[in-house]
Amino acid sequence: MSSFPRSTVLGYPRIGPRRELKRALESYWDGRSTRAELEETGAELRERTWRRLAELGLAGLPSNTFSLYDQVLDTAVLLGAVPRRYLDAEDPYFAMARGTAGLAPLRMTKWFDTNYHYIVPEIDAETVFELDAAKPLAELRQARELGFETRPVVIGPVTFLLLAGALERLEEVLGCYEELLAILAAEGVEWVQLDEPALVADRSPEELAAVTAAYERLGSAPSRPGLFVASYFGDLGEALPVLAATPVEAIGVDLVRGGLDRLAALAGKTVVAGVVSGRDVWRTAPGRALSLLRAVREHAADVVVSTSCSLLHVPYDVAGEDGLDPALRARLAFAEQKVAEVVELAHADFQGAEAPAASVALADPVVFEGRGPYVERAAAQAAHLRLPALPITTIGSFPQTGELRAARAAVVAGTLEEAGYDRRVEAEIERVIRLQERLGLDVLVHGEPERNDMVQYFAEHLDGFAVTANGWVQSYGSRCTRPPILHGDVGRPAPITVRWARHAQSLTDKPVKGMLTGPVTIVAWSFVRDDLPLRDVVFQVADAVRDEVRDLEAAGVSIIQVDEPALRELLPLRRASQADYLEWAVAAYRRATSGASDRIQIHTHLCYSDADQILAAIDGLDADVTTIESARSGARILGAVGSFGRGLGPGVYDIHSPRVPSEAEVEELLRETLKVLPAGRVWVNPDCGLKTRTYEQVEAALANVVGATRRLRDEL
Ligand code: GLN
Ligand code: ZN
Repeated sequence: MSSFPRSTVLGYPRIGPRRELKRALESYWDGRSTRAELEETGAELRERTWRRLAELGLAGLPSNTFSLYDQVLDTAVLLGAVPRRYLDAEDPYFAMARGTAGLAPLRMTKWFDTNYHYIVPEIDAETVFELDAAKPLAELRQARELGFETRPVVIGPVTFLLLAGALERLEEVLGCYEELLAILAAEGVEWVQLDEPALVADRSPEELAAVTAAYERLGSAPSRPGLFVASYFGDLGEALPVLAATPVEAIGVDLVRGGLDRLAALAGKTVVAGVVSGRDVWRTAPGRALSLLRAVREHAADVVVSTSCSLLHVPYDVAGEDGLDPALRARLAFAEQKVAEVVELAHADFQGAEAPAASVALADPVVFEGRGPYVERAAAQAAHLRLPALPITTIGSFPQTGELRAARAAVVAGTLEEAGYDRRVEAEIERVIRLQERLGLDVLVHGEPERNDMVQYFAEHLDGFAVTANGWVQSYGSRCTRPPILHGDVGRPAPITVRWARHAQSLTDKPVKGMLTGPVTIVAWSFVRDDLPLRDVVFQVADAVRDEVRDLEAAGVSIIQVDEPALRELLPLRRASQADYLEWAVAAYRRATSGASDRIQIHTHLCYSDADQILAAIDGLDADVTTIESARSGARILGAVGSFGRGLGPGVYDIHSPRVPSEAEVEELLRETLKVLPAGRVWVNPDCGLKTRTYEQVEAALANVVGATRRLRDEL
């Protein structure tokens, strides 16, 4: 086995520098191009990435980090864990990812504490594991033809099975991994990377024993490449000595989030040292990185410079971001710049002073007066709103039409005046209001047509944020977001949403919800300054949201939704730090909503929050109505929410799939909900916002929701 290359990255963005993969996927899904054309785009993107990494001087190039949809789904395919019902679909891979007319997709959830979503593998008694190594082999061979030797990257067996909730299948799965290692060895592959990010969270003794079993067995496989087990998103903690005691040759540690505590256990190993952050957009302080590398070198047999995790979570390139303030730009590093940093650090001729941290004092926290107790609020709201039983509402956004996106682009290009754009937004709001009235919804929304994105829109209107022109990051499948960069003190110079809310309410007698994004989510979905504690940054944003809540109430809005879909996402992976986080996150939310009087109904929406895991915190938010995802995770969520003491809307259908739910399906879910919650507290709504759907799908789905709800109302 040759020594590990001096510098590497754990993975790279794959959506394409100009989101080429997004376009190719959507064109294939719409039937405008073939599978072969889609594969062609994939091959071009991989080629471009390897060439670029090599040009930048990176020594160890990864392969199999590309994916047409998701790397966890790819691993399920690799191991043959494709549920039988998808096999007859025209394209089983995308059927699992997105569903078909007749099949619901697999469940999707967040990848650790990131905003990337993966497809949850479904493993049950029917699953027969069987290796299908076509994808890693194809990527390996493509790279070879281009003259590049690569290191295939695969999710490791322990993490894969933990994500699938099926660790008891370890022995079977290891058989596939052994086979894969033998195939790669026969191809002449020197190193393989097995990703085990699950090891940075708390693991039980049984789970740690599974780590030992897995890597003892793979380590003693008769024919295999060098084994590099990568951890990321935190400290390996007690898993480090466990892993180090196995025969794996190289171990990857995240030194941006993790510490140096147990590194002595790494004697004799190659340490792939993640000193360049893959989770933020800031330049690496070379002094700190070099001293970390030196500290590791004291213990390890060999040290390789790397990123703390895959660069999947940062945009491609700072070059071309001409709209940014040059002083801010100089502080930034996206994927390309981070690769260059890795290379420079590896050459170790990189000496420089630490960038001075911009230190800004935080204003004294504003003391806030809380709202009254829920019962009193609920009575005041009932008298004021006069809603029917099982009120029907939506989560906020309606389809974003091509015309609206084009109009926004035209404003940026200077070919459409603000006033012309505003008229289009107003017309769209009217269309959405009329549609909801026609369908018979009870609490309306304005549809968010003025928003490109629920976080970016606020970032554009708040001080302390910058937005990029092309800083896209993959969220799931073809979906990308452009996280704003929160670099300075946050403030709200003027009301943001009030004029649209007022316009929407003027069109109808039904209540229209004001729609805001909560402080935790705004921060979670931005790249955040690292010179202040996260908590202090979130409180600054909370104060800005609070000003907006006050102004909405003053404008006559009687229901205000403050979304916190990312509440769960920022939850620390280690239990020991979770309580502290939840305490300040909840406090920030209450501070943001405390400006509203009791008569104002506060809603919150929590998305794919694994609501059952943080139910106490959700309760702590003290919102009058909470809407959560449930269609894809149904029974589990419903089993947990019975004790919930305020209004709750478990989503009645999955909006991430183009599939239109039948009336019977919605009725069934509602019946399940009414078994665990008193009817007086149940709200009826989809799982999430409708912006990724078409009007056709939305109308059909909501009509079925209304039909099902009416039937149940008659029975109450
Ligand atoms: N109000 C937002 C919308 O409907 C919520 C989106 C989300 O939860 N991610 O689009
Ligand atoms: Zn949502």
